[in-house]
This record gives sequence, structure tokens and C-alpha cells, in this order.
Amino acid sequence: MTMTHTTDILIIGGGIHGASLAFHLAERGVKVTVLERQFIGAGATGRSSGLVRMHYDTDVDSRLAWESFQYFRNWKARVGGECGFTRTGFIQIVAREQEAALRANVEMHQQIGIPAFIITAADVKRLAPSFYTDDFDVAAYEPESGYAMPSDTANALMTAARVRGARLLQGCMVIGVQITGGKVTGVDTDQGTFSAPVVVNCAGARANVVNQLAGVDIPLDTWRHDTMFVLRPPEIGPTHPTVIDFPKELYFRPEGELTLVGLEDGNPLGESPDGDTDHAKKGFTERAIDRLCERVPAMENGRLHSAHGGYDGITPDQHPVLGAAGPEGFYVDCGHSGTGFKTAPAVGRCLAELILDGEAKTVDISPLAPGRFAEGKLIQGNYENIWR
Ligand SMILES: Cc1cc2nc3c(=O)[nH]c(=O)nc-3n(C[C@H](O)[C@H](O)[C@H](O)COP(=O)(O)OP(=O)(O)OC[C@H]3O[C@@H](n4cnc5c(N)ncnc54)[C@H](O)[C@@H]3O)c2cc1C
Repeated sequence: MTMTHTTDILIIGGGIHGASLAFHLAERGVKVTVLERQFIGAGATGRSSGLVRMHYDTDVDSRLAWESFQYFRNWKARVGGECGFTRTGFIQIVAREQEAALRANVEMHQQIGIPAFIITAADVKRLAPSFYTDDFDVAAYEPESGYAMPSDTANALMTAARVRGARLLQGCMVIGVQITGGKVTGVDTDQGTFSAPVVVNCAGARANVVNQLAGVDIPLDTWRHDTMFVLRPPEIGPTHPTVIDFPKELYFRPEGELTLVGLEDGNPLGESPDGDTDHAKKGFTERAIDRLCERVPAMENGRLHSAHGGYDGITPDQHPVLGAAGPEGFYVDCGHSGTGFKTAPAVGRCLAELILDGEAKTVDISPLAPGRFAEGKLIQGNYENIWR
């Protein structure tokens, strides 16, 4: 016997974006159901490095990160449960030739209201005495920023959504999108049929497959990213700031006694998201250790703890796609291009506004609309695209 379940809005995917959207819709009294093929945080979210910073090179990204930060720093009151936000301070290091772009970005951040400052290499040395600082003159500093725990964050949002009436089905894979007369009417899954006039694609690295089920053509690829944990030697001290380091194409942040490290280069596109994520790719840890030791020479005495990988969806301009696409009632919230954890609270809120009110008011997300690719309006910030 097959049953049809009816709801107001169906969300495909229980990552941080599906959970955030469910929370914001449920908060507004909408009957929402999340369909997740595995479990909450099974995709990119569960592998995310969880950096929470506002330093971006476009207005829309910085605003989404800043609005989201209001959640991270006040999580218990705003959402409930735990997101594990830890304030470490954030340093953005750039090469000398990128100094003008850095200054322009920090000025833009300050206009938004973000606590962001230009500091000298000597200031970086004062904040992090173990860092090598002779290859740059200035950096951006965000004293409030840090990192959060992505799985906890997604689970907290989903729990808060369920408390407000949302429904979650795990182990439920969407295999078809039903369309009648140009309008979405529901989805087919391996657990039966679900009817709703609105369906939102939050399927992460698999969003392209879901788009195809709805006949939607948006340029979306998969992006593979490896990270490792190293055990810090005691001479570095109990902690250090969170850092993005353009000259070394590296980022790192503390987590207890460990330091989490990722690289901006060597992130392959176009792989199946079913690839092995329990291990990093061959050669990754060697490259990452070399770069980390160039920035923090005392890490020579550290020890490799573990390494793993993850897959996200990526677009040609390395920015997400948010908004209506294809048949009436079909929306996309995907292509987060390796930086979509920290922006998820505000993105969920904006998309809820777009769906329910016809317009996002918290942040103008129209530059991220799906139509930009066909119109040739790709997003270009003050820096080069981060991933290679
Ligand atoms: C290793 C790594 C490190 C990262 N570090 C950072 C960082 O430091 N800071 C930051 O801001 N961002 C970071 N990111 C990016 C960020 O984690 C992602 O942009 C974000 O988690 C994407 O969330 P999502 O909900 O769109 O996708 P996902 O978390 O991938 O969730 C999509 C969900 O959809 C489900 N799904 C797919 N297809 C179907 C279907 N047909 N039916 C039902 N369910 C389906 C999947 O099982 C999955 O759970 C990182 C990403 C990776 C991989």
C-alpha cells in the first residue's frame, strides 16, 4: 500500500541548510517536512571545518555571515541547544599585492557594522607569537570570530524546528519530483509520495541530481575537500587564532589540543559524492603539514592526529544559488561552494522570507539568484576565487 503525505513545504536534504530553512519556516507556523536520505549532517555539514568569520570579498556574503553571527553568538536564546561556538579571533593574511583588496574589504565590513580591523604583521605576532610573519605587512582581524560545531549546529536547528512542528524523515531518499501543469506538486521517495505546493532543494553535493529530477538546469559541480587534525606541540601554547592564509593557500583553527587544517588548492571538482571521505587523498597531509610548518614553524614538533574529506556542491563563481528555479514552487538552496556553514542561519531566514513574503528582507539575496548564470552575471569579489 502506498500512502501520500501532505505538507506545506518539503525540504530535500537535512544538512545545515535544510535544517536552517526548516527552523525558520516552522518558526513562522508553516507545516514543513525534511526528507533526508541518510541522517542529519551526513553530507558536507558533518565534515565541515566550521569556521565562523565575516571576512568575505562581497557585500552579500559579508552580510549573510554577519546576520548569521548574531545567531552563533546568542545561540541558546535564538535557537536553543548547542552550536559549540568558540571565540578564537580570526586573522586573514594576504600577500603584499593583495593589500589594497584587503583594505577595501575591511572598509566594507566596517560599513556593515562588523568588528573588523586592519592590523600589522607585528600585531599578528603579538596575538600569535608562534607565527612566522615576515612575508606580509598587514592582515585583517576579527576579534569576535571563531568556529562552531557543524553537526551540533544542524541538529540544534532541526530539533528547534521539530519543537515548532516540523517533521523529519531520515533514511528517506527523494527519487522524483512531481510536476503538474508547470507547478510542483510533491516528490516521490523510497518511503512513498509526499505532496506539497513548495519543494526546496537543499541536497548539497547531490543538488544537481535533484535539480535534474525537476528539469532544472543550473551549472553545479561537486567539490572535494580534505582536512586534517594535528596535535599541537606544547610550545605553541593552549590555543591560537583561527586563520585564513592566502600566501600559503591554507586555513587552520584550534580545537582543544588539536589544530584543524585545510588547503585552498588541490580540491578536485566533478567527483562522485560517494567517494571515500573517511580518508584524505594521497599526498594531502604531507602538503598540509609543510604549509602549516611554514606559517607556524613550531608545528614541526606536532603530530598528525587524523585526516578525512567531504563533498559540497560548487558553482562556476563559487557562490551559492538561492531562489526560485524551474517549475512554480521549486526553490534551490545549494551550491554553497565550500563556505556555506557560517552563512546558513541567515540563508535559511532569507529563503523563508522569499518563499513566504516574496522577498528576502534580512539580506538582499537577489545577486545569488539562479538566473545569474544564464544572464552571464557571475559574482566577482575583490579577491580571486578561493578554491583551486
Ligand atoms: C571538508 C569541508 C570543510 C568545510 N569547512 C567549512 C568552513 O570552515 N566554514 C564554512 O562556512 N563552510 C565550510 N564548508 C562548507 C559547508 O560545510 C557546506 O557549504 C555546507 O555544510 C552545505 O550544507 P548543505 O546543507 O547545503 O549540504 P549538506 O550538508 O551536504 O546536506 C545535504 C543533505 O542532502 C541529503 N540528500 C542529498 N540528496 C538527497 C535526496 N535525493 N533525498 C534526500 N536527501 C538527500 C544528503 O544526504 C545531505 O545530508 C566545508 C565543507 C567541507 C566538505
